[in-house]
Amino acid sequence: MSDFVRGLKCRLCGKAYPKQPLNYCEDDFGPLEVDYDYAAIKESIHRGKIEMRPFNMWRYRELLPIDGEPTVGPLVGGTPLVKAHRLAEALGVANLWIKNDAVNFPTLSFKDRVVSVALSKACEFGFTTVGCASTGNLANSVAANAAQAGLNTYIFVPSDLETAKIIGTTVYGAKLIAVKGTYDDVNRLCSQVADRYNWGLVNVNLRPFYAEGSKTFGFEIAEQLGWRTPQHVVSPMAGGSLIGKIHKAFDELYKVGLLSRDPKGNVKIYGAQATGCNPITAGIKAGQDSHRPVRKPNTIAKSLAIGDPADGYFAIKVMRETGGCGEDVSDKEIAEAMLLLAQTEGIFAETAGGVTLAVTQKLIAQGKIPRDEEIVICITGNGLKTQDAIAGIVEQPVVIRPNIDDFAAVLDGKREPVLV
Ligand SMILES: *Cc1c(COP(=O)(O)O)cnc(C)c1O
Ligand SMILES: [Zn+2]
Repeated sequence: MSDFVRGLKCRLCGKAYPKQPLNYCEDDFGPLEVDYDYAAIKESIHRGKIEMRPFNMWRYRELLPIDGEPTVGPLVGGTPLVKAHRLAEALGVANLWIKNDAVNFPTLSFKDRVVSVALSKACEFGFTTVGCASTGNLANSVAANAAQAGLNTYIFVPSDLETAKIIGTTVYGAKLIAVKGTYDDVNRLCSQVADRYNWGLVNVNLRPFYAEGSKTFGFEIAEQLGWRTPQHVVSPMAGGSLIGKIHKAFDELYKVGLLSRDPKGNVKIYGAQATGCNPITAGIKAGQDSHRPVRKPNTIAKSLAIGDPADGYFAIKVMRETGGCGEDVSDKEIAEAMLLLAQTEGIFAETAGGVTLAVTQKLIAQGKIPRDEEIVICITGNGLKTQDAIAGIVEQPVVIRPNIDDFAAVLDGKREPVLV
């Protein structure tokens, strides 16, 4: 497989680098990206070959940057693409799908995709200690996958994280460092950590490899639709990486001959954020080329709360070039959308899912997404991790004594709790 990766190259100036744990170009600080030999990949794969492999993210292995067999996260990916009939009816649209990474293995978010690539690569590079800067889901995923791989782990997070995401990290035996500051403070600290210690930090010095894992989210959408792209995709944005990789995924599938129709001009990609942390959507709405940093994020969508996103510029480029756009929504809209998704489709998504659905509703209402076209909503995390966000607006249980009369009274509409 190593034959297919030529090395790394700068996304700004194109300068080539060998395969190594490095994320920035030394000339212009542009982010580095994996450079593939697409002609050779095209020779080597076809639909039938992929379809014969187990349904997980590694069935697209030729388009992922590891040299040998995956050693971390061999079962990640392969999540459902749900045809959402009841939600479609509620939104007044004809064709709607949910790509549901709320049930990704093993830590219930799309981050398992990026982590399995980054940690498999970390093992190839010989790192024995790994880590990350995280808004929560990445912490869970690095901790779990590193435990399975027997790696030492240091995880850095903002100290105001949800309890479920903290316990969902420490349970795996990871050292969790809670930093009093924003995600951007945490990220800066991690760059210094990567410089001082010889560790593999998945979204710092391993970032070019890490980011490639997100493509599998897009590969699966296209394959599950029958090797074609939908007309509209709505993606949440934190650092702005996933949205660009969904676009890259569609583009690559066409390049290597797996799609019959060029996605260019046929799929519009939209980015979703919370109004309480909207650097990317504020940037695109203001007509800027890059994002508008948010100093103090304030939203229940903590997994998306990155004030100074590393890929803000590229996210805006993707939205603009595909004919999509960006939009943001309030915390109230986020919580209500979480309930709507749960009550129409039986899918309990985290706050980021509420962001994506609420933004989709807004774009439909604005007429930006036509009601008769095909829409895919990207659900990237699980609601069991962010229960506080909706605890105040879900219906409370009716408490009764264990007798049939009490229950009959409830059915008759006398719902007052009878406390014993
Ligand atoms: C990290 C994350 C995202 C977005 O990730 P980026 O690639 O940084 O934009 C979306 N949803 C959830 C639940 C996440 O944890
Ligand atoms: Zn460069």
